Amino acid sequence: MTTVRVRFAPSPTGYLHVGGLRTALYNFLFARHHQGVLVLRIEDTDRSRYVPGAVENLIKTLKWTGITYDEGPDIGGPFGPYVQSQRIELYREHARKLVEMGRAYYCFCTPERLEKMRQEQIARKQPPKYDGTCRRLSPEDVAQKLKEGIPHVIRLKMPLEGETSFEDIIRGTVTFQNALIDDQVLLKSDGYPTYHLANVVDDHYMKITHVIRGEEWLPSVPKHLQIYDAFGWEVPKMAHLPLLLNPDRSKLSKRQGDVAVEDYMAKGYLPEALVNFVALLGWNPGTEQEIFSMDELIAQFSLERVNKAGAVFDIQKLNWMNGVYIRKLPEDRLVEFLTPFLERGGYDVSDKARTRKIILAVYKSIDKGEDIVEAARIFFQETVEIEEPEAREFLQKETSHTVLKVFYEKLNQLDKLDVDTFKQVMKEIQNETGIKKQDLWMPVRIALTGVTHGPELPFVIDIFGLEKVKSFVRQVLEKVYQESGV
Ligand code: GLU
Repeated sequence: MTTVRVRFAPSPTGYLHVGGLRTALYNFLFARHHQGVLVLRIEDTDRSRYVPGAVENLIKTLKWTGITYDEGPDIGGPFGPYVQSQRIELYREHARKLVEMGRAYYCFCTPERLEKMRQEQIARKQPPKYDGTCRRLSPEDVAQKLKEGIPHVIRLKMPLEGETSFEDIIRGTVTFQNALIDDQVLLKSDGYPTYHLANVVDDHYMKITHVIRGEEWLPSVPKHLQIYDAFGWEVPKMAHLPLLLNPDRSKLSKRQGDVAVEDYMAKGYLPEALVNFVALLGWNPGTEQEIFSMDELIAQFSLERVNKAGAVFDIQKLNWMNGVYIRKLPEDRLVEFLTPFLERGGYDVSDKARTRKIILAVYKSIDKGEDIVEAARIFFQETVEIEEPEAREFLQKETSHTVLKVFYEKLNQLDKLDVDTFKQVMKEIQNETGIKKQDLWMPVRIALTGVTHGPELPFVIDIFGLEKVKSFVRQVLEKVYQESGV
């Protein structure tokens, strides 16, 4: 049996798109499931889109996700180099061979002529497509123009009739009418190949057995098949993954949310949560299971269970899942993960023991790292603001005023406040005033946290200490009940 060899072949545009992450992940899962090989290949032949640092960034981001590859630009391998801009001569040679075999041709049309042709086709409501002018040049004309050094490209000679069919693992039989397919440029006037030529040549020489990529590449397949056919190369198996959609079912776009993996990283999504979420964008194991470790994904993944229909990117679900993963983190990793977000929020985290307590007090209420800035605010400020309407309303109760007044009097008689003392004090207030349950606890909670749903009070008391508790209760007595001189 031949070893499964798959590739992730991104064009380095500056960041890793979540769709790219899904492609990388499915290739990785497929390779690992079959004890195969994953190749990372950088498709950087479009020099106009070159972004310095993009490759390093991409590799760093992939590392963060836990997706590992076996051959690639930074680790080498038997079929390198793995960066297309370092393989240009190979593509040129193959473009020339295609011309010699009569499967491609030189085209000398100027960009101006092509643009005019395109405009006219659009005006006539025809799909824009090369009109074949240079396909009909005589060999003598071609030789003459080449001799004159007229700038040219090399185009694929698509059959003018018939159809091209192939089997897609996800979509079944897919058929295209050849007449509708453009004579694709394979080699550009700058001597660089287009994606189509370089991709096929590399998939062949890198011995790729399965091409797993986004649906947007489906229309390229009939062109690619012409190249395989011309060289007599074996065609890899193909699997085109469903589109990623916004909740309104339009194509996933920046306008409706983040698309760069780096953005999710920066906001405090955990790699294991993002990977779990992305794995389910188009694939499901056929069970109710939703939370998967990477090993479980590897064990259960199959291309046969990838859907054809577009997959909606539901950020609510990602948030929920990330919260699940945050709550599962071991304490040390939790602290290590969340401390930088507190720091970025401008808080002083130099007291490590205190920072740890704060994190443990609030982590259950957050979905992602950056949420902790808001969730922990109360611990880093000296004043309490009560903005939540339910909280304000609750303080309007006569019982709330009583509780806070008595609480404050009792605080003034203490010289320290720990959790046990606090519970004792609350019991006394209940006994003396007859106020209990929510009416007893809620005013204190609101006075200390500003909200009705916040961190648990024992945590708050422990982290605040007596002076801060006193100060917050005094502020509420003054601001809400206009008591002065308390
Ligand atoms: N370079 C292409 C991309 O950026 C690769 C497509 C393919 O996998 O064939 O997605």
